Amino acid sequence: MVRIGVDHGLCVGNAMCVATAPGVFAHNEHRQSTVVDAGGDPAARVLEAAANCPVSAIRVMDSETGRTLFPPEPGARS
Ligand code: SF4
Repeated sequence: MVRIGVDHGLCVGNAMCVATAPGVFAHNEHRQSTVVDAGGDPAARVLEAAANCPVSAIRVMDSETGRTLFPPEPGARS
């Protein structure tokens, strides 16, 4: 399972993440992305959505270890 954060100071609401992982992300009333169900799509989809966010507003952590999965930590091997 992953923990997901969306920085609303960065999100420009283009819905790329909603299109990539519709089980996880949805727009709120301000047309910014929010997490509706962190387990709503496979983690790979969530990571793809984070990687494709044009303003890098999505952060993904491993909920068990707390390790940051995206963005990649400096020195982390891919
Ligand atoms: S892809 Fe990024 S900018 Fe676009 S709605 Fe999702 S979080 Fe916001």
